[in-house]
Amino acid sequence: MVIEKIMNKALAGDHLSDNEVLQLLDTKTGDDFTELMETAYQITKEHHKTIKLTSTVHITNQCEVTPKCKYCGFAAGTSPEGYYHPFFKTDDEIREAVISIEKSGIPRVSCSGAHGYHGEQAVTASRIVKENTSLELLVNVGADLNRQSLEKIAHYETETVCCNLETTNERLFHQIKPGESLQNRIKTCQMISDSDVELSSGLLIGIGESHQDRLNHLKFLKRFKNLGEIPIMGFNPYRGTPMENHPVCSLNDQMRTIAVTRILFPDIRITVPTPTIGPENVKFSLMAGANNLATVIPDTYPLEIKGVGSPACGTLMNVLKVTIDMGLITELRTCFVPVLNRTPLASGM
Ligand code: SF4
Repeated sequence: MVIEKIMNKALAGDHLSDNEVLQLLDTKTGDDFTELMETAYQITKEHHKTIKLTSTVHITNQCEVTPKCKYCGFAAGTSPEGYYHPFFKTDDEIREAVISIEKSGIPRVSCSGAHGYHGEQAVTASRIVKENTSLELLVNVGADLNRQSLEKIAHYETETVCCNLETTNERLFHQIKPGESLQNRIKTCQMISDSDVELSSGLLIGIGESHQDRLNHLKFLKRFKNLGEIPIMGFNPYRGTPMENHPVCSLNDQMRTIAVTRILFPDIRITVPTPTIGPENVKFSLMAGANNLATVIPDTYPLEIKGVGSPACGTLMNVLKVTIDMGLITELRTCFVPVLNRTPLASGM
């Protein structure tokens, strides 16, 4: 196998050169691809004993970014497949949703929303989640944060704040996000990283970036000392958006990037949202080294839900079937006794 030597270095925890990482990102299907996945899976098992599940609440889709990001199907009016109509969830709606998530056994929730509120939408969500549940919380309002709102979010003991850079290729960023600035997002990530809160910051892949761009991005993230999570999101075209004819990011490409991220960041939480990999492909994200599945929706979820990146979301029961079949231990709150738990959970990762 061509990449065997690189895999041995990765398993030993040795530094990989840029050329070696690029070789991994270029891996085609076949023996090398299998070896890459097995190595990433092995490293994940050594560094992470359980799989985390994260559900979601979308606070608002009313976004002041203009023009809209070209791939966005989340903001009001962007895609007939997305939410399309403007909404702003009431405190009661958020409360009801997070209580249903907690009851389902899912231990963590992501509350995300569009831009235009200086982070106050995230402050409100933090207050509601932390006053009404014991869920772990990630909030994601992109770069729509300032120091005051971040301090309030931290005051409510929110564990993680997410600001995805999507790509660090400035030209490409400007092309797909003409209403936003990469520098603003980088400053937001730095502000979060300098606070007491964990930073989550991810890659949107398959948007026209090169493998060198992905490598540059992953290396760039190393500067953030509080970085605890990297979401890997494969591009899916949302109908009606300017990128509706851009090709979908293939499953193999997503798996390669997850695996390389795992090799470069053995201890980090790698998140794969069920809508971006596709609910039917969740298994492959875990095989590649993900240890957090996001946008996992319980049966009793009280709100309409459409994934960011693609409308289809993974349900708790379907995700649990996958983790149980793979012999993985899934973190669940103890109040939850799913029928599926008849199968032993305590084997494997
Ligand atoms: S991707 Fe986010 S910031 Fe961009 S238009 Fe959509 S909601 Fe607004």
